[in-house]
Amino acid sequence: MPSPYDMTREEVAALLEDEPPYRARQVWEGLHTRVRRPEEMTELPAGLRGRLAEAMPPALTEQTRQRADDGETTKWLWTLHDGARIETVLMRYTDRVTVCVSTQAGCAMACQFCATGQAGFGRQLSQGEIVEQVAVAMRAAEPRRLSNVVFMGMGEPLANYDRVWAAVERLHAEMGLSARHLTLSTVGIVPGIRRLAAETLPVNLAVSLHAANDELRDELVPINRRYPLADLAAACAEYVTASGRRLSIEWALIDGVNDRERDAAELAAFARPLGAHVNLIPLNPTPGYAVVGSPPARVRLFRDLLGARRVNATIRVTRGVEIDAACGQLAAGAAHRAGSTDAPAEPVRLPRVLPAR
Ligand code: SAH
Repeated sequence: MPSPYDMTREEVAALLEDEPPYRARQVWEGLHTRVRRPEEMTELPAGLRGRLAEAMPPALTEQTRQRADDGETTKWLWTLHDGARIETVLMRYTDRVTVCVSTQAGCAMACQFCATGQAGFGRQLSQGEIVEQVAVAMRAAEPRRLSNVVFMGMGEPLANYDRVWAAVERLHAEMGLSARHLTLSTVGIVPGIRRLAAETLPVNLAVSLHAANDELRDELVPINRRYPLADLAAACAEYVTASGRRLSIEWALIDGVNDRERDAAELAAFARPLGAHVNLIPLNPTPGYAVVGSPPARVRLFRDLLGARRVNATIRVTRGVEIDAACGQLAAGAAHRAGSTDAPAEPVRLPRVLPAR
């Protein structure tokens, strides 16, 4: 059992067979509502606390914890039982507290500009390893209430569908997080989006688009070759109809690559029929992709170009840049973690195929 949060209620109760019946509920609520480790459940007799602590060790061992943005952002690097490493980021805003969780150790999607994609795939995370990240963040957020969970850390959530969905259900049923405060972010795995559309919990869906013509998207986001834009748009439409949720489109603005007027026009043509909201993120630098993010004026212009085409777009304020906790920078255990001084001097690598301008 990798994490206590992999255990079912029955499995927890089975550990407490010789105890009065109310103990099982106490421990279950201790784990999920008060998010405490068994050894901290002072309502339990000391002997029992010790026994439970041994029977359900945590999955996450803290390797490092870093703070940024005047303490408003916390990033953890965790080691799992088999040595795999993942990261979790907690972001405190005035109106909400959001945790960004990993769903896989590494990622197989190989998006060019993403540090996790550059590092490759490790393994799937279990349901409990995902939920435990939320539990730790909930605890760290106190006295504030953790309000939002975004599945936007390392990994592709829809390539680990069953475990991710089990985690979603646990967060919803046991930890008081409503579906509209949960957001799954996907590179665009079409069968996964269709499965989501058939679920009864209407979570938010974000699609990492980054290019709205197949030629460029094939380059930036290789899974596009399997699930091209027309199929993706159809699956998104199905999700919007089934869930009643507004779709989000993520667009990392890359200087000279996807930030021109033509890109805005293509994006608008994709987003408008879906009624989607666009999140613009200036590309964060990663060691394996030397193309830079669009300058601020270009980002604002791009937003205005979308606005002129009646597409709502907001510019995402990036958190955690200085501790490599920003979008796409998570790459636990990678050698380049040490920073730019250790990074090999690589030539600027532009996507091989650039659309004709
Ligand atoms: N695999 C999922 C979720 C993890 S990635 C997905 O693709 O959506 C989370 C978000 O960060 C995605 O929108 C991804 O495209 C974006 N991202 C990756 N690398 C980035 C970078 N270097 N700068 C800005 N955003 C990046």
